[in-house]
Amino acid sequence: MAYILNEKLKNLVPYSGSAGVYDVRLDANESFLNPGELFKEELQAALLEMPLNRYPDPSCRKLREAFGKAYRIAPERVVAGNGSDELLSLLLGAFLQDDQKLLTLEPDFSMYGVYAEIYGKQMVSMEKENMEIHVDSVLEKMEREQADVLIFSNPCNPVSSVLKRDDVVRLIRSTDKLVIVDEAYMDFDSEDSVVDLAGVCDNLIVLKTCSKAWGCAGIRLGFAVSSEEITGVLNALRSPYNVSSFTQAAGCVILNHAEYLQKAAEEMKASAAKLYAGLLPLEKCGKVKRIRRSKTNFVFIETERADELHSALRERSILIRKTAGNLRITAGTEEENRRVIEALFELFGEEREQK
Ligand SMILES: *Cc1c(COP(=O)(O)O)cnc(C)c1O
Repeated sequence: MAYILNEKLKNLVPYSGSAGVYDVRLDANESFLNPGELFKEELQAALLEMPLNRYPDPSCRKLREAFGKAYRIAPERVVAGNGSDELLSLLLGAFLQDDQKLLTLEPDFSMYGVYAEIYGKQMVSMEKENMEIHVDSVLEKMEREQADVLIFSNPCNPVSSVLKRDDVVRLIRSTDKLVIVDEAYMDFDSEDSVVDLAGVCDNLIVLKTCSKAWGCAGIRLGFAVSSEEITGVLNALRSPYNVSSFTQAAGCVILNHAEYLQKAAEEMKASAAKLYAGLLPLEKCGKVKRIRRSKTNFVFIETERADELHSALRERSILIRKTAGNLRITAGTEEENRRVIEALFELFGEEREQK
């Protein structure tokens, strides 16, 4: 007798993008700033009074209040998760029913497709036009495909395009299907956020994370904001103690420092602007097709040589992300940016302009 693993499970591969040791890691859109150093004392104090023998607060009350204060949202409309990844898994696994269909707009965050696949859900994808979302085409596609749920990231990871708030609102208001807007990068510049409409529009779920502009990828903390009805469903679907006491405590400390977010976001955007400016000559002289950036902490490089460049950088102990057939580079410290820019110019055999 031998145990035979089902074919689908046999073919799954773990998400291991960032395994290995590299001098320069610009692959995961992490912040190069560590707020843990800044708020060391508050974090230590929270740790010292934490009852480790007790389960964490299952309702994450203080955490949702801190989030509510930071984003001017009623805490009753907020569900916290072990990273927004957990919430995505919940939404695409348990909330989305087997007879329902998910629509994604490609290229977009790869985990949407991964979860839909793992949970065996029906999914249709639509290519963006010149990497941008066009609301009328999306509405038409939803209608034609009879899609029940639309998900997209705004700003988009990896291509960095932003759908303006007016367009997002028109999209949400023109359908009675569920729209999930993943605002993982919206904290870099919140003018196009629709988080205030979650609950006002009953078909909207907005996802937020502490991993990007807040610079706390290590604590694993994300949030879903929606109507009280959907919030109730998510609370019923999630496991009761999904956010640890450590994460709740650290999350409260960071979210209560809204001023930190502004400062950190400005620094990361400035770094992204420099990275973009440093790389731009490669586009100007036709070495790569196009370099895109927006109000985020990364740049997206369209190139046919993605595979080769990615490996060559790895050999130089620099890790970036290969995604959607192209390259995405997280903005890092000045030194990290310098290393990746120099390496790319060297690979293209170009002299870097001295400034
Ligand atoms: C990073 C990222 C997430 C995941 O965030 P976590 O809270 O760290 O799980 C979700 N969506 C997008 C588009 C991201 O880039």
